[in-house]
Amino acid sequence: MVKYIFVTGGVTSSLGKGIIAASLAKLLQARGLRVTIQKFDPYINVDPGTLNPYEHGECYVTEDGAETDLDLGHYERFLNIYTSQANNVTTGRIYQTVITKEREGVYLGKTVQVIPHITDEIKRRMTELGKSGNYDVVITEIGGTVGDIESLPYIEAVRQLQWELPEEDLLVVHLTLIPYLKAAKELKTKPTQHSVKMLSESGVFPDVIVCRTEQPLNLEIKRKIALFCNVKPEAVIEAADANTIYEVPLVMMHEKLDLIVLKKLQVKDYHEPELSKWKEFLDKLKYPKAKITIGLIGKYVELQDAYKSILESFVHAGAMNECKVQVQYIHSEFITPENVGEKLSGLDGLLVAPGFGNRGIEGKISAVRYARETGLPFFGICLGMQMAVIEFARNVLGIKEAHSTEMMPEAKDAVIDMMEEQKKITMKGGTMRLGAYPCDIKQGSLAHRVYGALRVSERHRHRYEFNNWYLDQFERHGMIASGINPDTNLVEITELPNHPFFIGVQYHPELKSTVERPAPLFVHFVKAAKEFHEKRDVVKNAVFHSEVI
Ligand code: GLN
Repeated sequence: MVKYIFVTGGVTSSLGKGIIAASLAKLLQARGLRVTIQKFDPYINVDPGTLNPYEHGECYVTEDGAETDLDLGHYERFLNIYTSQANNVTTGRIYQTVITKEREGVYLGKTVQVIPHITDEIKRRMTELGKSGNYDVVITEIGGTVGDIESLPYIEAVRQLQWELPEEDLLVVHLTLIPYLKAAKELKTKPTQHSVKMLSESGVFPDVIVCRTEQPLNLEIKRKIALFCNVKPEAVIEAADANTIYEVPLVMMHEKLDLIVLKKLQVKDYHEPELSKWKEFLDKLKYPKAKITIGLIGKYVELQDAYKSILESFVHAGAMNECKVQVQYIHSEFITPENVGEKLSGLDGLLVAPGFGNRGIEGKISAVRYARETGLPFFGICLGMQMAVIEFARNVLGIKEAHSTEMMPEAKDAVIDMMEEQKKITMKGGTMRLGAYPCDIKQGSLAHRVYGALRVSERHRHRYEFNNWYLDQFERHGMIASGINPDTNLVEITELPNHPFFIGVQYHPELKSTVERPAPLFVHFVKAAKEFHEKRDVVKNAVFHSEVI
């Protein structure tokens, strides 16, 4: 039988439900169970693809091209598995399905209502992955906070499932906050009591309470929470703040969250957790032997969640290189040809981030030029690659008006242009070039050294592409296309063979980086930045010595 675990959140948002859910999943996976996680979001957008990153952070893209919540990124990074469209459901998608069915006449004249029609559709999707036969456990994270009007149908669906499924097949974990009042020197359980009460009033009774806390919970507090929230004291789990999200599975293991869950779900067939690779990674992460600084140039730099997968990829790649990667955010709008040298001095590598629209692009182009001319390791992702192409066209090929039709639809020299099949599309949602596509790599190129393979597959999210009309000219002057889509001939990778490390990719390698499988491009970029850093010190020391003499 498939086991269903639901993770709800109370008291406040941003408690890290996704990380707790992913950590529990990791522990169950480490004990030999086949686990997947899905996220149900209560907003009405059909998917987060149309959301500004400031609203909801990065839009994560799966292999099958679904634009999803960034928590799916955590699931993949923790579990080293692929998720899909089925792993992220929104209220918009639920209603879209129900309304389409209504228009088709499926409901045979019935009045279509939240209960049962919406809740039935929610339940169908909650149990869909479980029915595939691929999993022993399906964890469902319910977005939002208990008490929100918009999440009520989800809670109601869990309530119904609680009655429909055998008792030992369903479990609810409720994540709350235990605030510490400095003035009173006390941890306060009342907000947790209230949120559990609210959940119970909706007919859902949590089996496990996970408490985010800045101070340790003593037995007395645990007993109090247990008493008021109707769970056993051992089912009150302390989730103390961790140094890194990757430590949370171990914190949860220490608290025996996995064992409590396995007991309630009456799972007998499991082994001791196999986490040796995970611990090895954590050791490397905690005790780096070097430190480098990478400049991340983008326009959403105020909000770290906007570049979540990139930041996590640096964590993975840093550990692999036993090197701490400090990411310095640089707002592209504030870079000019005059101040670029000063703004980027002290960096060991430059990453120009993905993005959309006109804002800040001239700053990005100036930054690329600086990296190209000074030998600073450069890595451009999607829009970052497109900026590198424009910079090369303008400053090396002398095509002064080179541009992208995204920013200048009438551009005379559109070195970046909209893909042919995109030109007919008018709808915005879900219509970009999305998901995994193959890429053939040129023998002997930097890309080849990075991947160690001649065919790779990476995920995409864009509408514009390198304009192949100019390819010859680029290659003759030193920027080569080292990765090409075998079916469409789209340029996927550009690089400068005469530079220590200069590579741009049209796809998003950050979406496939996991703890156990760091993205090769990030690993090699960090390595190049480390080498650059070491050489820079040598140069500095040399100057220092000569001065002393
Ligand atoms: N805006 C660019 C395009 O659509 C780049 C997209 C991106 O960086 N993800 O092609």
